[in-house]
Amino acid sequence: MLQQVNGHSSGSDAQGGGSLRKDLQKFLSGEAPLHQLDDLTKVNPVTLETVLRCLQARYAADTFYTNAGCTLVALNPFKPIPQLYSTALMREYHAAPQPQKLKPHIFTVGEQTYRNVKSLIEPVNQSIIVSGESGAGKTWTSRCLMKFYAVVAASPTSWESHKIAERIEQRILNSNPVMEAFGNACTLRNNNSSRFGKFIQLQLNRAQQMTGAAVQTYLLEKTRVACQASSERNFHIFYQVLAGLLHLGNIRFADSEDEAQPCQLMGDAKCSIRTSASLLQLPEDPLLETLQIRTIRAGRQQQVFRKPCSRAECDTRRDCLAKLVYARLFDWLVSVINSSICADPDSWTTFIGLLDVYGFESFPNNSLEQLCINYANEKLQQHFVAHYLKAQQEEYTVEGLEWSFVNYQDNQTCLDLIEGSPISICSLINEECRLNRPSSATQLQTRIERALAGNPCLGHNKLSQEPSFIVVHYAGPVQYHTAGLVEKNKDPVPPELNRLLQQSWDPLLKVLFPTDPEEQPSGQSRAPVLTVVSKFKASLEQLLQVLHSTTPHYIRCIKPNSQGQAHIFLQEQVLSQLEACGLVETIHISAAGFPIRISHQNFVERYELLRRLRARTSSGPHSPSPDERHSEGSPCTEAATLQPLLQDILHTLPALSQAAATL
Ligand code: ATP
Ligand code: MG
Repeated sequence: MLQQVNGHSSGSDAQGGGSLRKDLQKFLSGEAPLHQLDDLTKVNPVTLETVLRCLQARYAADTFYTNAGCTLVALNPFKPIPQLYSTALMREYHAAPQPQKLKPHIFTVGEQTYRNVKSLIEPVNQSIIVSGESGAGKTWTSRCLMKFYAVVAASPTSWESHKIAERIEQRILNSNPVMEAFGNACTLRNNNSSRFGKFIQLQLNRAQQMTGAAVQTYLLEKTRVACQASSERNFHIFYQVLAGLLHLGNIRFADSEDEAQPCQLMGDAKCSIRTSASLLQLPEDPLLETLQIRTIRAGRQQQVFRKPCSRAECDTRRDCLAKLVYARLFDWLVSVINSSICADPDSWTTFIGLLDVYGFESFPNNSLEQLCINYANEKLQQHFVAHYLKAQQEEYTVEGLEWSFVNYQDNQTCLDLIEGSPISICSLINEECRLNRPSSATQLQTRIERALAGNPCLGHNKLSQEPSFIVVHYAGPVQYHTAGLVEKNKDPVPPELNRLLQQSWDPLLKVLFPTDPEEQPSGQSRAPVLTVVSKFKASLEQLLQVLHSTTPHYIRCIKPNSQGQAHIFLQEQVLSQLEACGLVETIHISAAGFPIRISHQNFVERYELLRRLRARTSSGPHSPSPDERHSEGSPCTEAATLQPLLQDILHTLPALSQAAATL
């Protein structure tokens, strides 16, 4: 029998009111066990605050992985948890009929990609994009996934193929320490920070066994060879190989009093020149002379003029030599690794790509490196948005929902600003390099501001003491200083340095600096020199082409604290990462579609309370509630049938809130 909510009741009715009140309070306070929510899209309502609270609760419960729609959020535990990455657990995810029903894990993503690529009907290449800020766990995640594939992509029946998979896996794993020795360094944010981007393509044959891999690297931070921020270190290799490529850094020059005379060496720099020359297998005098004197070729006869360099120029040339040798060595290393792990083109048909890419960066002083990194992140974000929208659309179609997105702005305007045609920040910086004219940092700022004034993503910091411009990225505004931007983009290598290194009789340097058959007698190569931005743009486009040809999966790594300590979850720091990794955007996109996704069972469990309330408020003859109506028919599992239910509930909300007030 129906009861009035505001009527006096006794016995069981009183008890019913009490439990109803409790349930209602729980409902209104959103006091659901947050750590049990394994998908952030189920957090209700979806706001940054609730998402943050959910992640914090899960972290406290030692639960480090959480789904966020088609993204997996990975919190760095900062402590070893062997059981979380055991072979037994890998096999469990691999054997599960529906791995997505198990707890969220990188192995779910690994297994999903492996199943997709295995599809006999239409195998599609897969990619996993691992992103996050420095120290968040990208490289760790990539390594764990590699191990996962080595386990699941090995044939359990054929000993031979198992051996091959292990061999390849072993080789790939063995290549990691080598690449990390040369490409990683201790920074303030991570003791083993990767200073390059990496895309590993795991190659699979028709039987879905791993037959090889190929590594592509991006934007090695070669400036680290010459200088590091205070309390940071050079690449690991310099501390591992004590006699290595550092002596160059010890070469110091003194100011020359006479401009016509070359700068002289300071202190015991003569010793360092000798050691460097011996290690580079070069004659000592030409090495010193190349650092001290610039040769200019001019006139029809290409006459050679020799001009002593200033002390600052000598230092720049010394650093340039170190960077040049190091960058070529790194590229060579990657090519050797590739030749050792890459499978024969006939022996593989599909691939799974793993992208371990630097996250969005914003420092007090941002330059070309940050511009390139954030540009890459904008491109990946656009790719993500396009994919996410598509995935949502498909899901709604399958569920039979009628929907249309509200006006959602993607980040095309920002990309137009950075790379658009005909004028963009990149094109303007490139233009300055091409014209090769002396141009101050202030002039570059003015040119950018004038040419791109109409773009709303361009900003200006009036309080800034130094020439700069602001780009409003999807993850937040970043101020870039224009000083040194053009020079960095040119990344000039004096031709004398190249020629010098070509004279080395060291077998490795001969490989790194082959004599250019195209070289003209003047020593100038005919090929146009590409700027850093142009090269980066080209490699980024190539990467995106590969990613577009795959089904992408996203893992966003989050660093719970900057001290790298377990059990510490700093809300402010996590919040800024949630914003920077675009999770906010993901939530916005979700909101543009259907912000709340609840399984039918959870929906009924949760809103059963409203039915009971409604029943109490109803004074007239009882009309079946949505759930009652629903329970009369066959069990409804389609989301489309929930829409009328929801509407019904929304219509009764005013009456319900009145009823709630009286409780
Ligand atoms: P960078 O951009 O600087 O290269 P990154 O995102 O690659 O950083 P990692 O080097 O993978 O960061 O991780 C930093 C450190 O965090 C690791 O050396 C490890 O100590 C710890 N770590 C990361 N992920 C995990 C994990 N899942 N379990 C335990 N420790 C982890
Ligand atoms: Mg790394």
